[in-house]
Amino acid sequence: AQSALDAAQAAQDLNAFLHIDPALTLAQASAADAAIAAGTAGPLAGIPIAHKDAFVTRGWRSTAGSKMLADYVSPFDATVVERLQQAGAVSIGKLNCDEFAMGSGNENSAFGVVRNPWDPAAVPGGSSGGSAAAVAARLVPAATGTDTGGSVRQPAALCGITGIKPTYGTVSRYGIIAFGSSLDQAGPLAASSRDALALLDAMSGFDPRDATSVERCDGAVNEPGRIRRDFDAAQSRYDGAGARPLAGLRIGVPAEYFGDGLAADVQAAVEAALRQFEELGAVRVPVSLPRTELAIPAYYVIAPAEASSNLSRYDGVRYGHRAAEYGDLNEMISRSRAEGFGDEVKRRILVGTYVLSHGYYDAYYLQAQRLRRMIAQDFQRALGEQCDVIMGPVAPTVAKDIGENRDDPTADWLADIYTLGVSLAGLPAMSIPCGFGQGSHARRPVGLQIIGNYFDEGRLLAIADRYQ
Ligand code: GLN
Repeated sequence: AQSALDAAQAAQDLNAFLHIDPALTLAQASAADAAIAAGTAGPLAGIPIAHKDAFVTRGWRSTAGSKMLADYVSPFDATVVERLQQAGAVSIGKLNCDEFAMGSGNENSAFGVVRNPWDPAAVPGGSSGGSAAAVAARLVPAATGTDTGGSVRQPAALCGITGIKPTYGTVSRYGIIAFGSSLDQAGPLAASSRDALALLDAMSGFDPRDATSVERCDGAVNEPGRIRRDFDAAQSRYDGAGARPLAGLRIGVPAEYFGDGLAADVQAAVEAALRQFEELGAVRVPVSLPRTELAIPAYYVIAPAEASSNLSRYDGVRYGHRAAEYGDLNEMISRSRAEGFGDEVKRRILVGTYVLSHGYYDAYYLQAQRLRRMIAQDFQRALGEQCDVIMGPVAPTVAKDIGENRDDPTADWLADIYTLGVSLAGLPAMSIPCGFGQGSHARRPVGLQIIGNYFDEGRLLAIADRYQ
């Protein structure tokens, strides 16, 4: 723990860590040491990790990357934080992220951009950019993130590490500062599938404090140990003959994920990975996800709608930033919000309030909900009948330069095209490193996305492990 703390403190230039408190960390470390000595240690005893600042933590500040919560210290731990601590993990601190997890480059944080450890001119991806950068820079072996529309998978891809978003409902949302509640799901970012498995297995499980937490997954109880058992079962299933361990695996390759917007260097790296999977025994099956592009408008109606509702709690009354000067109560609330929220958050609140308002609700919000259902059905057609997993790119390009999209906020929205559909459908999906860009982008990593059917996270991790 001490050497991880030293490394985190020495890596200021990345701006990945927002809050470090050595006394808190060392107290957790000695508790872990005591558990090891007593023979009661959990599976992650003594392993240094760090949490995205969207998870509330007792002791450390919890800001979700927002000025609104700059001084907020939670009186309780999120379920994920609690479970990882029970498993013995030692938290090194809190990690930078886009404000309220809204963004794809960590450029929307009130506390500054995070640099990509592979190339300091590049963004690390977002919104879990601090988590991805901290793992890629080897400051911690694993970190937590949240994924509402891609925020675990995309920063993992852009930083060349492994990240997994489990099936919606697998991991408790209790104590995760809310963005879009029907989409938010936590997942680990780690150096390998096996490390991601260790974290995900410990963080998952039914939690009565989250109304959408799932109690049973495909007949099994949703509890720590379930994903590891599924992983082990898949490992023995995919032990095939010698060099072809994945014999029989059907990989669906959606034509729509290889369209015009996909950069040539990303396509080349993803194609090379698919060929390697074929060498491991898998077969490619062409599939179609015809509403891939429509996931963008559907998501950017539903997520802002939910965000506008979730963020109404920041009124300067109960907690969070309060303006220093105001006349009456209304002015106090509006000034506190005007000062506390950044531009992207205000943009989402405006969109969300608009699509939920009388007269527009049917035209936008209900239409988006219909699309959401059709997108989920498209995935079921492919995964239920034609293939076992779907593979494709995570993002259409390698990491952008810091500042590249500053004047065009919707450019980032369009780049979420390959991750949003999975989130709308609630499916599990992961990102694994599969190469690098070309030319001046030769140091910018490319991620391969592997999408599974509901509750297939253990299987996805086992398949990725065969490749890694
Ligand atoms: N980039 C998407 C957004 O800005 C997804 C963010 C996320 O998954 N938290 O909404």
